[in-house]
Amino acid sequence: MTNGQVSAAEPRIALVTGASRGIGYFVARELAAAGYHIIAAARTVGGLEELDDEIKLGGGQTTLVPLDLKDMAGIDRLGAAINERFGKLDVLVANAGLLGTISPIDHIEAKVFEQVMTINVTATWRLIRSVNPLLQRSEAGRAIVLSSSAAHKCRPFWGPYSASKAAVEALSRTWAGEAQKTSLRVNSVNPGPTRTAMRAQAMPGEDPDTLPHPLDVARAILPLAHPQLTETGLLFDVPTGRFQDYRLPE
Ligand code: NDP
Repeated sequence: MTNGQVSAAEPRIALVTGASRGIGYFVARELAAAGYHIIAAARTVGGLEELDDEIKLGGGQTTLVPLDLKDMAGIDRLGAAINERFGKLDVLVANAGLLGTISPIDHIEAKVFEQVMTINVTATWRLIRSVNPLLQRSEAGRAIVLSSSAAHKCRPFWGPYSASKAAVEALSRTWAGEAQKTSLRVNSVNPGPTRTAMRAQAMPGEDPDTLPHPLDVARAILPLAHPQLTETGLLFDVPTGRFQDYRLPE
């Protein structure tokens, strides 16, 4: 892999969901520093504006998209709007997600289970559906889908989150297979424990200073956006810096 820097006369376009804070914020900021025009989506306008200010200070360009990902028609409209304005998309970072509650499977409220599945899985699928044609129009489309080690560890009490991340990894690998003969590359990422609001919610007793900063994680993820990336259909594990292939032999 190479670093994420691009040197195109026309900037590559990257859509980052969950760009208002945490990992998504820093992935968006680092992609902007590498020359990408950032389409930044999230609900919290204040967080998006802070990102906008930082990127513009560095000479970069953004388009802000206040969007609740439970609005599936809104996701469809986002794809249509990107098509109208740019005619293509070069990078998708499907990063937005939520943890839900940590509790035994039979104590989980139906509403919480449905929220986690709606945002982590259904909205990710809907986003893939909305932007796949645009990514296919890029000379080197790259999709990065945030997963978690929870998809594989399936720790007790993390049921909805683990199931949702296993589902998005399955979607990513399926999509990668379907795109095999195109220039689109699709990978999922395990960022590892990272100093964010979500991690603090999951591990309230933990000292956040013992965890990697989301900027470090963003820098590790950036090469997955690069046009020269060859890997596809894999899980990039940030803590080890390695690609994992969970496919069973045919
Ligand atoms: P944060 O909670 O810090 O940020 C989550 C982001 O998702 C926010 O920008 C939030 O924006 C957005 N989001 C949540 N719900 C919605 C919604 N309904 N509509 C639109 N946007 C939404 O999380 P992290 O940065 O920690 O996590 C980023 C990704 O990394 C997630 O997919 C997570 O599962 C994964 N991950 C994180 C780990 C960690 O240790 N931090 C470990 C493993 C995986 P807003 O609220 O403004 O809408």
